Amino acid sequence: ISSVELAQQFLDRLKLEDGKYNSFITISEEQAMVEAKAADDMRAAGKATAWTGIPFAHKDIFCTNGVRTTCGSKMLENFVPPYDATVTEKFKQAGAVCLGKTNMDEFAMGSSTESSYFGATTNPWGASSAVNRVPGGSSGGSAAAVAARLVPAATGTDTGGSIRQPAALCGITGLKPTYGRVSRYGMIAFASSLDQGGAMTRTAEDAALMLNVMAGFDPKDSTCIDREVPDYTATLNEPLKGLKIGLPKEYFSEQLSPAMEQQVRSAVREYEKLGATVKEVSLPNAKLAIAAYYVIAPAEASANLSRFDGVRYGYRCEDPKDLMDMYTRTRAEGFGNEVKRRILVGSYALSAGYFDAYYLKAQKVRRLIQQDFITAFKEVDVLMSPVSPSPAFVQGEKNTDPVSMYLEDVFTIAINLAGIPAMSVPAGFVDGLPVGLQIIGDYFSEARLLNAAHQFQ
Ligand code: GLN
Repeated sequence: ISSVELAQQFLDRLKLEDGKYNSFITISEEQAMVEAKAADDMRAAGKATAWTGIPFAHKDIFCTNGVRTTCGSKMLENFVPPYDATVTEKFKQAGAVCLGKTNMDEFAMGSSTESSYFGATTNPWGASSAVNRVPGGSSGGSAAAVAARLVPAATGTDTGGSIRQPAALCGITGLKPTYGRVSRYGMIAFASSLDQGGAMTRTAEDAALMLNVMAGFDPKDSTCIDREVPDYTATLNEPLKGLKIGLPKEYFSEQLSPAMEQQVRSAVREYEKLGATVKEVSLPNAKLAIAAYYVIAPAEASANLSRFDGVRYGYRCEDPKDLMDMYTRTRAEGFGNEVKRRILVGSYALSAGYFDAYYLKAQKVRRLIQQDFITAFKEVDVLMSPVSPSPAFVQGEKNTDPVSMYLEDVFTIAINLAGIPAMSVPAGFVDGLPVGLQIIGDYFSEARLLNAAHQFQ
């Protein structure tokens, strides 16, 4: 079967099925066929890679040349980028076929994909029952699309958990690499010191194949790190005998239901059977992570989102009276409530007089959190924990209560503050809904995380 035929089959199924999930914002059929044709040419020329002709999808935060990129916002409803993100470019070079752009919380702010201007995404798990559940977020469209087998793989981004939590809630594999491992060029910025692109796939092996394409230095991103990229598939089958696993005691707290805890602990027991040793460790500052994150992330967001002013690109209000009226109405009409809330919080935290009390303080806490992990990794190779406090919740349950939504990130956010890599790996079910095991590693230990995840699957 040719790449063109394969792409057509996937597109037909996508159009037929996605009405149930709303996991895509844009299906880019025309561009997909161009890429499929290019893949067939690559194959004919004997230049095929592991990705040549493979259908996949990009989270709608990655700029795609000629294909609308909305970031889940009215602000960018009609934005067609004139350039590709580095990640987009790399998949094109590998010959992969992007079928479209997946749904997400507006500007990646959220944990349920309910804040998307293009409507919520439904989790395929339980989608036929009386209540619809969230797929998690913000990369909920990518997670749902992979879980529903609409695409075998999709990109995601993770600022505070947005790859791992939706992967857990949809029963798939998610990898957030080390900060700086994957270029952020052309990835619409939310909180620049935390954002990192990564992989959402069915298996750890597929995640390794994705990271092989995505990782690497990019002169267009000054925070991207110049460091050799190993073949992440090469070490998947290394035995785990002697692997030292740490269980952070703060992550097995009262926030975790007994059923969730049992699921995670039984996954850890499987690792013991594979020859790993387990000990309890402590991350004493972990409890401060949510508070620090919800100062730092909104502060950075308020600065990044100032570019959406109606002048250069994106939405502009009708008939502005003057410049101020244009700024005000463009932003009032173009942004949703959660985005506005973050801009307000962030501008406040950065304002003169409050900067030291909030932003500077949060940065100091961030350093302490990072130090906790550095200390833990002197004793153990990886940490294991839950990904989210509970399985997929019902749509509408948390979206009127921002704090309960923010608490979804309690086990994922410290990892972003420290900049280290982590994965979510399917680890069974609670109440018939999938849950994830989080495997956390030291800087640039992606190969080890993928190895551990692969052995478990
Ligand atoms: N849920 C977190 C937030 O709303 C994390 C989002 C993300 O990782 N992009 O900020």
